[in-house]
Amino acid sequence: MTTDASWRWPHVAPDTIACRCCGETFVDPVALDALERLAQSLGENLVVTSGHRCALHNARVGGAPLSRHKRLAFDIALAGHCNAELVAAARAAGFTGFGFGQTFLHLDTRARPARWFYGQRSIEQWTSVLCWIPA
Ligand SMILES: [Zn+2]
Repeated sequence: MTTDASWRWPHVAPDTIACRCCGETFVDPVALDALERLAQSLGENLVVTSGHRCALHNARVGGAPLSRHKRLAFDIALAGHCNAELVAAARAAGFTGFGFGQTFLHLDTRARPARWFYGQRSIEQWTSVLCWIPA
């Protein structure tokens, strides 16, 4: 994936977490360690639909002004995953911020754990999954 010897996350391709508009990257070792653990534990390829966002890109896609994506957060495509397994594995991997979308799961490693939804439809979609996963 990369020839850079300092890149120590073999299951994470650097370009998949770079800003979609300009290729800017942000190396957050804590977040990358969690993503690497998650990919290893699932034994599946993770599709990151949004990783780091430069300030312009974050504004353009309607991201929150203080979005963790301006540092490093990951939106993981749900397609091909068992949603419950994905959430449980992400928690075990060390993620603390969870945003439950209809097509993606937002993950980050914020200091204070948080979880949120993206609209009523995502609440309905995730309710049956989350009811048996302890907060
Ligand atoms: Zn950009």
